[in-house]
Amino acid sequence: MPIVHDWLARRAALDPDHLALVDATQGGRRSSYREWDARASRTAAYLHHALGVRRGERVAVLAHNRVETLDLLFACAKLGAILQPLNWRLSAPELSGILADAEPVVLVYGSELRAQSLAVREHAPFVRHWLTFDGPGADERHFVAERDAAPESPLPALELEAEAPWVLCYTGGSTGVPKAAVLTHGSLAANAVNTVVSWGLTSDDVAVLNAPLFHTGGLNVFTLPLVYVGGASVVCKGFEVEQVFDLIERREVSLFFGVPTMFIELQRHARFEAMDFSHLKLVVSGGAPCPPPVFERFFAKGVAFKTGYGLTEAGPNNFWLPPADVRRKPGFVGVPLFQVEARIDGERQPGDVGELLLRGPHVCAGYWRRPEETARTIIGGWLHTGDLALRDAEGCFRIVGRHKDLIISGGENIYPAEVESVLAGHPDVAEVAVIGVPDAKWGETPRALVVPRAGTTPTAESLLSFCEGRLARYKTPRSVRFVESLPRTSAGKVDRRALSAAHGQP
Ligand code: AMP
Repeated sequence: MPIVHDWLARRAALDPDHLALVDATQGGRRSSYREWDARASRTAAYLHHALGVRRGERVAVLAHNRVETLDLLFACAKLGAILQPLNWRLSAPELSGILADAEPVVLVYGSELRAQSLAVREHAPFVRHWLTFDGPGADERHFVAERDAAPESPLPALELEAEAPWVLCYTGGSTGVPKAAVLTHGSLAANAVNTVVSWGLTSDDVAVLNAPLFHTGGLNVFTLPLVYVGGASVVCKGFEVEQVFDLIERREVSLFFGVPTMFIELQRHARFEAMDFSHLKLVVSGGAPCPPPVFERFFAKGVAFKTGYGLTEAGPNNFWLPPADVRRKPGFVGVPLFQVEARIDGERQPGDVGELLLRGPHVCAGYWRRPEETARTIIGGWLHTGDLALRDAEGCFRIVGRHKDLIISGGENIYPAEVESVLAGHPDVAEVAVIGVPDAKWGETPRALVVPRAGTTPTAESLLSFCEGRLARYKTPRSVRFVESLPRTSAGKVDRRALSAAHGQP
């Protein structure tokens, strides 16, 4: 079934003068839908005619949030090309790995990430064009200048199927190997419709966009749904408490999404108590469980605070907690949204805990170039989320824990296997396991339990400095404990449950 792939053009035709974007990174520059669509079309023509980008090819972005990334997102849609937004927190080897996985033909980077882009260049021979958004140094090509100087040229005619990929969103999945969820035009449209309908978004809504665009939270919570419905986004470089308070105080925004760590920071700030939140229509927390005292403080200030549950593979918005249940059912994420089917694997009666399975048009097409992982994760259309959940007698779902050993720190996923594989490379390490430790600010932080190699006495400092340059900083353990051995299950695997019981306290 063909799909309208170019939402932006359609929105611009319906509502050309309506506010679409506010660029908070450049003094609040505003774009209407007509202006944004014209820029995206110009970007597409430049990618196609000047850089030779063809349907199905990948365009990578390595940058903090910026309006030009959104231009590229819709330029890719206009060409049937695929955006690969990169997590700029990754180390050079990690970035090289995911570049080799997707083989983009163009990479555009922010000047603040020039060093990272230089570090991966020799490992990415498939990239035909390297450009900076906001350079240039003597040896750099400037994306905006080249685009704006390019002659206006027509775009190739295009008809896409709903299954056509649009964005590659990287996740560690349940095995910890970074892999890309293939988000298609159909799955992103289904997520947008679900969000617009369930949260009652309208063209009057304006969202703060400060979650990263390389993550489903930044891309899907409000940004794409607002294009669907004709609202606007304020594009911020990242999360900054003062900026968020300023936007709310000036009554410029009605929607805010964050991970629990952001809400904790907002509440700790001196301005919180005096803030007037009455202009906010909706505040959504997602990405990790939000501690009840945190949302209680927002309720106390009259804020409509909601918890969203989702994951890269199925978008951030799968359940809806009716307002009457928010207090009555703390910790619950709600009932499935319109196009979402949800069930608990192995459930016999309400309250049974099992793996949460999701099905619907919003689920990704699978993992990029990993048919075996895809076949293990999406079975008969059902996405195996790796999360443990239960459903009560009223059909309301609660997430109770993680099947996978994921550690979530400040909304970022840390896969123990990945951290362990780096530390295991240290010459003094015989064995290592990484667990999550509760943390008031970050939710969880990683801790390494290390069995030293016989005859060696490694220090925590030497192990942590070994991680530098090999692992993103947020994945680097915050603490190290030395142990004589690691507990094992009867199957011979490291017994993480026993480890957490013995070493999982702050
Ligand atoms: P990601 O793919 O990075 O979006 O991470 C998805 C994972 O975050 C899920 O599989 C859950 O383990 C966790 N998660 C997301 N939202 C919630 C929530 N509301 N409550 C508990 N865990 C959550």
